[in-house]
Amino acid sequence: MDVTVSEDHRMLVEAVRDYARGELIERDQQWDRTETSCCTHLDHFYEMGLMGLRVPEEDGGLECPMVPYAHIIRELAYASPSVSVTVSVHSMVAEAIKQFAHERSRRRMLNQLATPGNLSAFAISEANAGSDPAAARVRAEQVERGWKLYGEKMWVTNGITGRWFAVLARSGDGGASKDLSMLLMDAQQDGVERRPIEGKMGIRASETAQMSLDGAFVPEDHLLGDPGDGLKIALSALDGGRLGIAAQAIGIGQACLDIMSAYAKQREQFGQPIANFQAIQWMIADSATELSAGQLLTDRAAWLKSQDQPFTKEASMAKLYASEAANRIAYRAVQIHGGYGYVNEFRVEQLYRDARITTIYEGTSEIQRHVIARDVLSGS
Ligand SMILES: Cc1cc2nc3c(=O)[nH]c(=O)nc-3n(C[C@H](O)[C@H](O)[C@H](O)COP(=O)(O)OP(=O)(O)OC[C@H]3O[C@@H](n4cnc5c(N)ncnc54)[C@H](O)[C@@H]3O)c2cc1C
Repeated sequence: MDVTVSEDHRMLVEAVRDYARGELIERDQQWDRTETSCCTHLDHFYEMGLMGLRVPEEDGGLECPMVPYAHIIRELAYASPSVSVTVSVHSMVAEAIKQFAHERSRRRMLNQLATPGNLSAFAISEANAGSDPAAARVRAEQVERGWKLYGEKMWVTNGITGRWFAVLARSGDGGASKDLSMLLMDAQQDGVERRPIEGKMGIRASETAQMSLDGAFVPEDHLLGDPGDGLKIALSALDGGRLGIAAQAIGIGQACLDIMSAYAKQREQFGQPIANFQAIQWMIADSATELSAGQLLTDRAAWLKSQDQPFTKEASMAKLYASEAANRIAYRAVQIHGGYGYVNEFRVEQLYRDARITTIYEGTSEIQRHVIARDVLSGS
């Protein structure tokens, strides 16, 4: 495994890190308090090329390899877990288009993604189809020159401002997973109604939407893959998406570690900094160790993907481990702050809430364990 990052990409990661730590943290805190979407504040990210990270250069993107890509998501998450998932989901859709769009429409679609006004979203989940996306009920009816979509989607990240939605829909009548197709829908049309899901525990600046589809039209060349490929495409895209969430979790965990370490050195009890107490040191040592392990798992999965090698199990391991670790680390960060960790004047209170989603979306920890065990038990 060689996870060396080129000089150019190292500089890009550093530029993101400087911007995120310098400009983004305070804004993210304000967005959290007012539950304001970050999706209408992405201008600088477009200027930096971050909305085209996984778009090929010839289509106007940065074509960033997976290892530095994951480092960029981590740096964004350090400052704003909401911005990081916004970019991660958008990049996941770019990836699905790159891999599965038809030759005649791929370049046209990719070209748009890196430009403002073309944020994308990934609409698989429904009220009764979460861990089991094969239970999706949204219908795709074939009409002249395309498809019309009917039904309800739930939990769509980037779902209010987003324009291009990868929608998992039932295009056949059999009720089987092979009847599912993936269609790239332009959400700016009649027949699409979107409502924000408010009152989230964390990542409150990330948009989450419910969406009703009532005859929304998708031209035939916006079908990804072939009819019936929908579930395969969804699961393949999620493999890459899980790398993004693993990186997000590491960013959140690293922010917690830095904040708790600084606090432990400065806060005094019993006449000395609490960092002198072994109980505190162990929390810091465990957190640093778990972050390193999560980072290595994520780098390994990212490297495998960049080598076009199978990485499903490794992406699940990275997501499972990093997300559970981020929650443990956020818990410790609050604990080390004592009562001050319980109020939103201190950032760890928000990070504790933000970390919580990482074990849930793009496959819960239970589903990641299922993916890993299936692979192990199959003997591969
Ligand atoms: C803020 C947010 C953003 C999201 N963004 C998106 C998005 O952009 N696009 C999208 O399509 N979806 C999105 N989701 C949906 C998310 O992926 C689902 O919530 C998640 O997959 C879990 O599905 P569920 O909520 O229906 O829970 P359920 O599937 O009902 O699971 C409930 C519990 O049962 C467990 N469980 C289920 N099946 C099994 C099993 N076989 N074995 C063991 N345990 C099991 C789960 O692990 C969980 O603990 C988002 C969700 C949230 C909260």
